[in-house]
Amino acid sequence: MRHRLRIGFEKVDRIWAEVNNVLADTIPGIRVVKAFAQEKREAARFHAANQRNLHVNDRVNRVWSLFTPTVTLLTEVGLLVVWICGIWQISHDEITVGVLTAFLAYIGRFYIRLDSMSRIVSITQKAAAGTKRIFDILDHVSSVPESPDPVHLSAAQGRIELRNVSFRYGTRSIVRDINLTIQPGEMIGLVGHSGSGKSTLVNLICRFYDVTEGVMLIDGHDIRTLSIAGYRKHIGLVLQEPFLFFGTISENIAYGKPGATREEIVSAARAAHAHEFILRLPHGYDSLVGERGQALSGGERQRISIARALLIDPRILILDEATSSVDTTTEKDIQKALDNLVRGRTTIAIAHRLSTLREADHLIVLDRGMIVEIGNHAELMAQQGYYYRLWLAQARNVDTEDKTMVPIEAHNSRGSV
Ligand code: ATP
Ligand code: MG
Repeated sequence: MRHRLRIGFEKVDRIWAEVNNVLADTIPGIRVVKAFAQEKREAARFHAANQRNLHVNDRVNRVWSLFTPTVTLLTEVGLLVVWICGIWQISHDEITVGVLTAFLAYIGRFYIRLDSMSRIVSITQKAAAGTKRIFDILDHVSSVPESPDPVHLSAAQGRIELRNVSFRYGTRSIVRDINLTIQPGEMIGLVGHSGSGKSTLVNLICRFYDVTEGVMLIDGHDIRTLSIAGYRKHIGLVLQEPFLFFGTISENIAYGKPGATREEIVSAARAAHAHEFILRLPHGYDSLVGERGQALSGGERQRISIARALLIDPRILILDEATSSVDTTTEKDIQKALDNLVRGRTTIAIAHRLSTLREADHLIVLDRGMIVEIGNHAELMAQQGYYYRLWLAQARNVDTEDKTMVPIEAHNSRGSV
């Protein structure tokens, strides 16, 4: 019984995870579900998972709901046998009434223990199944293991060196043979087509993954020898998809430094050009942003996450498409603010709008995971290579956008007059 119960409870736990997966998938994506009118399909998917849940639960419940009554039945039958035998023996003068009474009292106590032990079986098997799943998680080996004797960088300078770095996701080679040295305080722009490996390179620098080949050195130390948490304290990161937590604006900005004062929070928000829009919210810095920051626009979320990265005053600042969802005017404002802030910090900025990166000390042009060109804007333009073509293609797009915009604006202004 024990074995069957444990297997059953394990199945129940696994099926619950499946039901939760369906919910965790569809509830945050509810707008997509509704926009594509797929409510019925998602409801059916949930129904199917829930039916399996019901079925597996039914089976295990049947096992243990049979088990306890069976034990009770057997003990009751046992008592009946004792009564019959006892009365038979008394009638043949083999034992006295006192002996039977004592015997019944003892055996009653014995059966109570037996009964409660049978109840414990199902509880312990449930716990055993749960424990197994907990250990599955605890025993999971991290893909970026902490070194047994980590180096603590107390004051990082922000020198980053990549030597023959390659990286694969599984068998798919994403970044190949990168050699690069970034001096402290330099601003680097990463440029390249979508999917060329820019975010992957940044993930490697943050050590979310370890390089497959080659070494990455931070201030001369192999990144794998550094204490992970200690190293990441020096990094300010703005992700391509900004993520906010449920809570207030100020809590989100102060995420990396929970004890930050209101002045620090406000000055970080000012630097990220978020202060003005925050003040327009009903409760200012204490407004709730909703789950995952749903109550804010994409550009507002981005500016909050820039403020969050700036607040911790990092040595290394990483901006992955940090200004992609703001309009060009706001982008210029943020750019101006960042120009002051990136001074003295090693900055790695990724942007599709190449004009954003004009001021970078070096532009690294990536193509399919390999560096194809390095140089500043003027040098790369003079080379008339990959970067030059990217730039021309963008400039042409901007031109055509402008042309199509003009008649509409002209029309509107005439209309208002
Ligand atoms: P974009 O400009 O669109 O942000 P990117 O240059 O940042 O592009 P990456 O995100 O670095 O591109 O992705 C590079 C390649 O790695 C892509 O082809 C992508 O499919 C692949 N890739 C990214 N993340 C993973 C992952 N977790 N597992 C497998 N492949 C991945
Ligand atoms: Mg990217």
